[in-house]
Amino acid sequence: MNRDGNAQNLRLVSGKGKTTTGRSGTPFDALEFVQSLSSSLELGTVLERLHEHLHAQIGHSGWFFILQESDATWSGGEEDRHRIEYGMSFNGEAMGSLILMRGRRFGDHEQERIEALLGLAAPALANALRFQNLSTCLETDELTGLGNRRAFEKQGAQWLADCRRQDRPMSVLAIDLDHFKRINDDFGHTVGDELLRRVADALRNSTRESDLCIRMGGEEFLVLLPGADLNCAMECAERIRLAIAALRIPAAAGDESGLESDGPVKATASVGVAAIGRHSSLHTAYQAADEALYAAKQAGRNRVLAGNG
Ligand code: GH3
Ligand code: MG
Ligand code: MG
Repeated sequence: MNRDGNAQNLRLVSGKGKTTTGRSGTPFDALEFVQSLSSSLELGTVLERLHEHLHAQIGHSGWFFILQESDATWSGGEEDRHRIEYGMSFNGEAMGSLILMRGRRFGDHEQERIEALLGLAAPALANALRFQNLSTCLETDELTGLGNRRAFEKQGAQWLADCRRQDRPMSVLAIDLDHFKRINDDFGHTVGDELLRRVADALRNSTRESDLCIRMGGEEFLVLLPGADLNCAMECAERIRLAIAALRIPAAAGDESGLESDGPVKATASVGVAAIGRHSSLHTAYQAADEALYAAKQAGRNRVLAGNG
């Protein structure tokens, strides 16, 4: 928003690349500016550098960048009452909104300066966004939209380190659908796939935003619960087991030729739970949860059992 409360839509154009002076005579070297931004593909780093340069020119106190696609937000500095917002696009594609804040108004002259700088920054920002999208794709399971094994490896290790630093517990759930092969055999792969998507929704709905739901492969899922001790994790596992057992997928037999059974399709899941001990690794805990899952299968399926993390 600008001073009148309106968002400005900025079409970014290339700057002229000459050296000028900004706030209190701070020299501005366009080439150095562009080079410093384009030398990283990490969105966070590119934004930090953009704001270092912007700060030298206009002395804002804080900033937000809100990603167009997901509303994910990056921020820095301190909030203040005067705000100016730019809807940023590059080559016709919306990238996100940049909000700058400070204690006094942004003058017309300063706005022109900001727009020129954003014009120069746009290609580096667009590249960082592309890189970010690619990284997200590599860590996403295509069928369900959950994280994949790679996300588990990468984010899991990071989250465990965070929990250890904050002295918080963390638990892991290993989930496997019961007799899923039969569902495929009786109703066809398309219905099997739909069930996997619905199970993914059930996981998302039964966990917190801050939990990590993963499809490890096939009909095997994993949930990482930062902040959850074994009791809390057992409750969550039971919630998930009930949510999966309540799923109904209307599927008439014969959707895929030669199939005999009639819908609706129902499923159950077995769940193994392990709290990650102070000295155990993510993998040891996953193994413990997996062993408990195996025991749950042996004990008759459609149940939750705890293991020793
Ligand atoms: P259990 O209760 O012992 O876990 O039995 P199960 O039938 O679930 O386990 P099993 O490992 O024998 O079979 C898993 C099946 O999952 C076999 C495979 O065809 C199916 N599957 C794996 N990936 C996919 C997928 O992406 N889509 C569909 N529709 N089926 C899949
Ligand atoms: Mg199974
Ligand atoms: Mg399995």
